[in-house]
Amino acid sequence: TPRVRIAPSPTGEPHVGTAYIALFNYLFAKKNGGEFILRIEDTDATRSTLEFEQKVLDALKWTGLTWAEGPDIGGPYGPYRQSDRKDMYQPYAQDLLDKGHAFRCFCTPQRLEEMREGQRASGKPPKYDGLCLKYSAEEVTAKMEAGESSVIRMKIPTEGSCDFHDGVYGDVSIPWDSVDMQVLIKGDGMPTYHMANVIDDHLMKITHVARGEEWLASVPKHILLYRYFEWEAPVFMHLSLMRNADKSKLSKRKNPTSISYYSALGYLPEALMNFLGLFFVQIAEGEELMTMEELIGKFDPEALSKAGAIFDLQKLDWLNGRWLREKLSPEEFVARTLEWAMENGRLTEGLKHSQSRVSKLGDLPNLAGFLLAADVGLTPASFAGLKTTPAETLEIITTVQADIEKMIEWNVEAIDAELRNVADKLAKKLRVVTPPLFIAMSGSSRSLPLFDSMALLGRSVVRQRLKIAAG
Ligand code: ATP
Ligand code: GLU
Repeated sequence: TPRVRIAPSPTGEPHVGTAYIALFNYLFAKKNGGEFILRIEDTDATRSTLEFEQKVLDALKWTGLTWAEGPDIGGPYGPYRQSDRKDMYQPYAQDLLDKGHAFRCFCTPQRLEEMREGQRASGKPPKYDGLCLKYSAEEVTAKMEAGESSVIRMKIPTEGSCDFHDGVYGDVSIPWDSVDMQVLIKGDGMPTYHMANVIDDHLMKITHVARGEEWLASVPKHILLYRYFEWEAPVFMHLSLMRNADKSKLSKRKNPTSISYYSALGYLPEALMNFLGLFFVQIAEGEELMTMEELIGKFDPEALSKAGAIFDLQKLDWLNGRWLREKLSPEEFVARTLEWAMENGRLTEGLKHSQSRVSKLGDLPNLAGFLLAADVGLTPASFAGLKTTPAETLEIITTVQADIEKMIEWNVEAIDAELRNVADKLAKKLRVVTPPLFIAMSGSSRSLPLFDSMALLGRSVVRQRLKIAAG
């Protein structure tokens, strides 16, 4: 039976791109009577966090997709989190060293940087120059015994090209001299993505790998590893990335890309999946409103276009509106609305913060409504009447805009610390920095405590409101 997987790295907010790739794999499995599994790829210990992993799991659960095996439910090929598999990769690396398919590299970061600088200066793409290939086995042992730190790199053929078939791109040929001698095991013993990905896909009996096109150039490394290990490679399918309306790669600077943004604004997961699924089906005009069952029925990888899937927000709005109007009974509509309002404690926490600020309950919608609103009606006039000049107001907003991307945690304490930091940076008092932000978040200068509001809104909604405020 076909086995496919989604293999997200928990290094940021769950991306709609992940939902798009996950949906393709899920539909592929369902259509072909196969299995869809979830694996967490957290070998990049500097960027991966358990908090993001939980968010990935929550976001994927929200989409309604279900997996047969995964870190939360286990399965016959576990563990399903790569950091928990760390010790499993070492023997495979040793096997490659023993067979002469890999070598130890003792180059220091400084040497590698100098090498790359030289390559850049002469207009060549940066690539390891193979210096450490010269060491004999005795020299390597001596260096190891002397405690020199090293990584393990794979050897790459020096001539010819890697020819393979991709389920979307067709026949692809990549010259070996454009392929880097990839690090397989890092200095700390952790495998790199390439090493762990190939070994896990093999051990987890993955038959088809469908992922974003940004991995197409990595296929030669992967195919070579499969050959070195004498394993059969899976079928590869590289999906065109989603694009902004202007055809550039979807990026959070232009469009919200977090799944949490769409759930916070009250898009139904069914509608988002319907929207993403339309990239994978061939249908006639008028047939766009589709359930998951219908998507499975009509799923056709041939429908994929290499040109890229345009993330058309107006179309998503249109589909979501149709789902709300046509697919829910009035009772379901009410139930789903209440469920949405209660998500992440927005309604209850918002009410608690409102209690000391109202004289009658009828004041609540105006005071706390911004916590649920898709649009707080910001206009340049919203910022009139502030003590800061328009230029200062803009500087405050753009500084916060840039800084929220660097924050690791998103909670009241972290936001508090961050905004104090911004005030220091701009040499302003905190009480000067906060009023423009109050307005950016709520559309009004009279609202709930700022740090709590930002925490409740969530980073992806805050990002979008700052972007609108910056104009
Ligand atoms: P941004 O450019 O907005 O910062 P990013 O490229 O940093 O986004 P990543 O965190 O690298 O996003 O990607 C997370 C996951 O989402 C990856 O699995 C990646 O394949 C997928 N992804 C990112 N951008 C797209 C896209 N435009 N279309 C489809 N999938 C995408
Ligand atoms: N961890 C990789 C990512 O998040 C997975 C790529 C793959 O599917 O091989 O993009």
